[in-house]
Amino acid sequence: NSQLNPAYTFENYIEGDCNRLARSAGYAVANKPGTTSFNPLMIYGGVGLGKTHLVQAIGNNIKNSNPEKFVLYVSSEKFVNQFIESVKTNNVQDFANFYLLVDILIIDDVQFLSGKDKTQEMFFHIFNHLHQSGKQIVMTSDCPPRDLKGLEERLLSRFKWGLTADLQSPDFETRMAIIQKKMQGDGIDIPDNVVEYLAYSVDTNVRELEGVLISLIAQSSLNRKEIDLELAKQALKHIIEDVETEVNLDFIQKTVAEYFQVSLDSLKAKTRKKEIVTARQVAMYFAKEFTSHSLKSIGYHFGGRDHSTVIHSVQTVSDLIDTDKKFKASIQELQKKFKTKAG
Ligand code: ADP
Ligand code: MG
Repeated sequence: NSQLNPAYTFENYIEGDCNRLARSAGYAVANKPGTTSFNPLMIYGGVGLGKTHLVQAIGNNIKNSNPEKFVLYVSSEKFVNQFIESVKTNNVQDFANFYLLVDILIIDDVQFLSGKDKTQEMFFHIFNHLHQSGKQIVMTSDCPPRDLKGLEERLLSRFKWGLTADLQSPDFETRMAIIQKKMQGDGIDIPDNVVEYLAYSVDTNVRELEGVLISLIAQSSLNRKEIDLELAKQALKHIIEDVETEVNLDFIQKTVAEYFQVSLDSLKAKTRKKEIVTARQVAMYFAKEFTSHSLKSIGYHFGGRDHSTVIHSVQTVSDLIDTDKKFKASIQELQKKFKTKAG
């Protein structure tokens, strides 16, 4: 069992400026696994931007044209758990042997290997063996390799042997194309003005966009109504409330930007204006407190900053809380917003 989901293909993976390099590298690998210089291929990007879809498409493509090849997709979480289990049951050798048989190893979300030294050692061993035998390795991560904290240097240096490509948030045109394609795939008619409205309104990630479409389809069949702008607005309200019940980085950034009356973009920009720096530091502080993102990942989502910048920000905010009563009050006010969301 390859653990591949046949629904994820290149055919339904929309190409745009946001994913062009990653997609074409993936396509090259899919057509010549193990023999291009893209070995390993590392795809990184934020949540819901299409990492899993893309690497699964690579796997499906290879499997379809080379049925004899052993293509294996595994999440890093599963890899870790399997490894731990094999240690407990004294089956480490079987675990290793199984992976050494793989022709194409696709390992998703390698940031999950952070700090798991023994598992990394095993992965390093498997990686070297497969790579030396000309087998293809494909990986994904939620941040660039250089920011993968808690990953051994010798493993990181291996990642650099191949190609690293990122996925960006989809631009407006790509979002339009994704909506059209998804609706077409489901055989559902959607007027152009609704496509445009949704593409304009949901600009974070593709998963959220899909959530809105699902809700829209549900509303349409529930109300026995054709899809129109009014229905789209309803669906959007519905889903955005849902989305906001969890504290994620986007929500923290939006809320803090609004509170300090600075633009969302400025939090990710280079500017050193004092009010923006403060807002940025506060947002990082809450990101650390309320999300499970690593320091590296937080830095990455704030315009590609270093993890040491995040540490510095968290420290600065903590110090200010201790010394500045007004500041402390603002922090507490903001904190309430996140606490109620977090439930
Ligand atoms: P990630 O692994 O980066 O969190 P996923 O690969 O799970 O993201 O993608 C989230 C959803 O968005 C999936 O249903 C996927 O099919 C869809 N998706 C992402 N990017 C694209 C794209 N370029 N074209 C079509 N669908 C996409
Ligand atoms: Mg994924």
